[in-house]
Amino acid sequence: MVDHTVKHIFVTGGVSSSLGKGITASALGRLLKARGLRVTMQKLDPYINVDPGTINPFEHGEVFVTEDGGETDLDLGHYERFIDVSLHRDSNATTGSIYSSVIAHERRGDFLGKTVQVIPHVTNEIKERIRRLATDEIDVVITEVGGTVGDIEILPFLEAIRQFRNDVGRDNVCYIHLTLVPYIGPSAEQKTKPTQHSVTELRSRGIQPDIIVCRSAEPLGPDIKRKISNQCDVAIDAVISAVDASNLYAVPLALRDEGLDDEVCKILRFDQPEHEPDLEAWTRVVERVEAADRPVKVGIIGKYVAYPDAYLSVVESLRHAGFALGAKVEIEWIEAEEVTGLLANDRLSQLDGVVLPGGFGERGTEGKIAAAGWARENFMPCLGLCLGLQVMVIDFARNVAGLEGANSREFDAESPHMVIDLMDEQREVVEKGGTMRLGLYPARLRDGTRVGKAYGEEVVYERHRHRYEVNPRYRRRLEEAGLICSGTSPDDRLVEMIELDGHPCWIGTQAHPEFKSRPERAHPLFVELMSAALERAEGRNPHLIAL
Ligand code: GLN
Repeated sequence: MVDHTVKHIFVTGGVSSSLGKGITASALGRLLKARGLRVTMQKLDPYINVDPGTINPFEHGEVFVTEDGGETDLDLGHYERFIDVSLHRDSNATTGSIYSSVIAHERRGDFLGKTVQVIPHVTNEIKERIRRLATDEIDVVITEVGGTVGDIEILPFLEAIRQFRNDVGRDNVCYIHLTLVPYIGPSAEQKTKPTQHSVTELRSRGIQPDIIVCRSAEPLGPDIKRKISNQCDVAIDAVISAVDASNLYAVPLALRDEGLDDEVCKILRFDQPEHEPDLEAWTRVVERVEAADRPVKVGIIGKYVAYPDAYLSVVESLRHAGFALGAKVEIEWIEAEEVTGLLANDRLSQLDGVVLPGGFGERGTEGKIAAAGWARENFMPCLGLCLGLQVMVIDFARNVAGLEGANSREFDAESPHMVIDLMDEQREVVEKGGTMRLGLYPARLRDGTRVGKAYGEEVVYERHRHRYEVNPRYRRRLEEAGLICSGTSPDDRLVEMIELDGHPCWIGTQAHPEFKSRPERAHPLFVELMSAALERAEGRNPHLIAL
């Protein structure tokens, strides 16, 4: 039997942050998958937090939750959307998590009295994290190194990936470096100097890139490519021009045109002809994106709206549902704290739908509760995600079920009606060392409900990240007042999904369905919202006509 060799691609970035390393890595993942290779991806993050779970969304954007309950970097969301495989908590490793395990080993005496050092102990741990993904089911591991070469905290990661090539063999590793080629107006030229400097920095750490991907506003001309090839010692075909794309999902096709995957396969010695990429399905997605032209305006009412990355997967899910229905989605960012004023001025009525996304802490919640009530009364399509479901339940309890002062324990520990509360389940989570219900949980859907029909399945699995639940003690009263609990945990204790009869779409879920939506497979709950929003946008909302 021939040994199964897993190939490794390392993606580093230089010159500037936010060049789209995550998208480039993901797009490459899609191209390799389209060649029939089994791909997985990983992000190494040089910051010291053990995971991004505790970082303020204003700082770091959304926390992406994996099926196994990992709280990970938002780039993993791009990876999953592009390569369409479910990743796990091991797919993201931070300096903090690496040091935690090194220190735990040290405390256990595993290092047999040695002095514990960055090299080899920390670098070995980093390599172990990379190796962990290289299973028999995988052909290629793409590892993105967060940060920019030249950062102080990136050094152990560069050292680890440098050693890695020697460990697993030259032909099994490919280094890709992403840089910026700026255009300087007065001289009317694209400038290669930042790329040269960045590659010099990388080489000073012992890594010679095999491929350089250059971000630029305009395509790189042959002269510029030749110059970079000469200066940085990479083949001219390995200088890849990555121009700003019209939409995210077109990036794999643009990189394919530049031959990125051919170069990678050459370097990793994959057989060429057998592995021509089959991009038919992906091309259809991109065509759908480009053809979507039915205008629809959806408001996201949240507390981190000044930093849209905090809701990255929600936005992408809305866009996916849009492509599926031919809708061009315009997002309106609405600060939850401003909702009451906006409602007084009737400013929200121009929307076609609203999303109440997840969140933590009290700020803005009264605005969200008001928005949920206004959407309910005005037949505005509304989808509540996690905290979104909770504020919908609070609105319903206060204003329909007559439970005055109803609230969540998170926002008002004195509330006379704690309709959202901590449950025994949460105590179990804490006993197991966690603080939240995290990862995949099943929901049984009630026959004949909107949600049941949308999913078309009896039991569905969605990812969770929350502490509080709909309080079972109030469930009967809420249901008697007309709230439909369309999805519950299989033991029927926890409410997972809610909806209302006679409303175009007032649906809430305790889960985060946005993590499962894919460009080629829009999520059913977002499709529900989007079709109701389109009906409203196009004047076909039967409830409004009847008014
Ligand atoms: N803060 C709420 C809870 O902990 C909702 C969390 C969320 O929206 N992810 O239950």
